[in-house]
Amino acid sequence: MMEMEPREAVRGYLKGREALGEPEVFLPAGGRERVIEKVRTAGAGATGPKTDGFDVVRLAREGTREEILAVPDMSCLREVADGCTRCGLHTTRTSVVFADGTATAKVLCVGEAPGANEDRTGLPFVGRAGKLLDRLLLSVGFPRSEVFICNVLKCRPPGNRNPLPDEIDACSPFMLRQLELVEPTVIVAFGTFAAQTLLGTRDSLRHMRGRTHLYRGFPLVVTYHPAALLRNPGWTRPTWQDLQLARRIVDGDRGHTTLRPHTEEEPPTLSEPRAAKVGSTDQLTLGGRDG
Ligand code: URA
Repeated sequence: MMEMEPREAVRGYLKGREALGEPEVFLPAGGRERVIEKVRTAGAGATGPKTDGFDVVRLAREGTREEILAVPDMSCLREVADGCTRCGLHTTRTSVVFADGTATAKVLCVGEAPGANEDRTGLPFVGRAGKLLDRLLLSVGFPRSEVFICNVLKCRPPGNRNPLPDEIDACSPFMLRQLELVEPTVIVAFGTFAAQTLLGTRDSLRHMRGRTHLYRGFPLVVTYHPAALLRNPGWTRPTWQDLQLARRIVDGDRGHTTLRPHTEEEPPTLSEPRAAKVGSTDQLTLGGRDG
């Protein structure tokens, strides 16, 4: 006979009592803590390590969206992600690319999915696009070490192909939970894919950028993906303006809802870092991963 999970057994017993009109349960003096502890730890060996009642191994294998969204903290979430086999990408990945930066960041950056360099190192945005991202963030006073960087997908799609709907469904709860745990002052979505996934729209990047959206109560700014900037350097200025908008939100500027008229400042170039200074929209391309 299959052994019932102790929590389930207790829950069933209490429900039964309730159905019978006997909702009260009296535990012997001093016994409550012992019973709770027993229920909490019993069966851990049989299923997987538990953190505050969360079975990391089971969640990594078959956790539902709701269960991933209920993971209590970032280290537990990382553990679940690290072992995740909930979509086919686990068979081709080298590393799970969970996130980089600080969990107390005011700025949370979301990209699309890891590329080859990220898959190899386990860190997001470490290739050419990542270097450019670092410079852009720094140019508006956000050093990489002070932001939180993650992707919608935590595993690399083979050959950098576009993410599939079932992969997005399986993986996006991790990003969502990261967002809830970080509670940033502003989210910056880099590229069409991240923006469309977060905002649940098929709108073009051109229409989404340049203003503040709200995502579950968090201000969200959309801008070009740094990999797209490497192909289209002309988009650097609008990207820089979007990042200045994010800067103003962090600085508590109430007039941040749209971009201000052009400043005379120059955006950072693709090759040269700039010091922090706070201050034509083009056709859309997908962000992509530069490997
Ligand atoms: N592109 C992304 O969207 N994310 C990465 O981590 C790297 C490249």
